[in-house]
Amino acid sequence: MCIFCRIIEGSAPSHKVYEDEHTLAFLDIRPISDGHTLIVTKAHVDMLEDLDTIHSEALFRTLYRRLGPIQRAMDAPAASIGINNGREAGQLVPHIHIHVIPRATASKRVLSDAVSRIKPRGPEYFQDVAEMIRKEIKAR
Ligand code: 5GP
Ligand code: ZN
Repeated sequence: MCIFCRIIEGSAPSHKVYEDEHTLAFLDIRPISDGHTLIVTKAHVDMLEDLDTIHSEALFRTLYRRLGPIQRAMDAPAASIGINNGREAGQLVPHIHIHVIPRATASKRVLSDAVSRIKPRGPEYFQDVAEMIRKEIKAR
């Protein structure tokens, strides 16, 4: 059983801040900032796209309803919100979770450590990439 499933069932310790029928929110053991919270679905599913409708809706409902209180509790006017979706994206625990990282002071964007070094691209590049994605979306 994965570590988050053990936290959900209570056989591993955690500091829970919110729980409902389908989701749980608890503090990350290695906080990037004070109040760094993980929101998980109670169903063990690795990746976002494999969630059923009930759990995907419940996950984002918990995010948007509890985000304000998490930020206010930390006196943080902002938060970085992220999902490492898959091993190649840095996912260490293979149980879908959303990171909520309150930001009290101006900080780097979570997804853009290299943004100032990335070269802008021309329109042909974007036409090709957009077409690849649109085709795949239509095929489903
Ligand atoms: P990922 O890279 O999968 O998006 O992030 C996994 C997160 O889970 C990490 O930030 C890590 O600190 C946190 N984590 C891993 N094991 C535990 C644990 O046993 N308890 C808690 N509270 N957090 C954990
Ligand atoms: Zn699990």
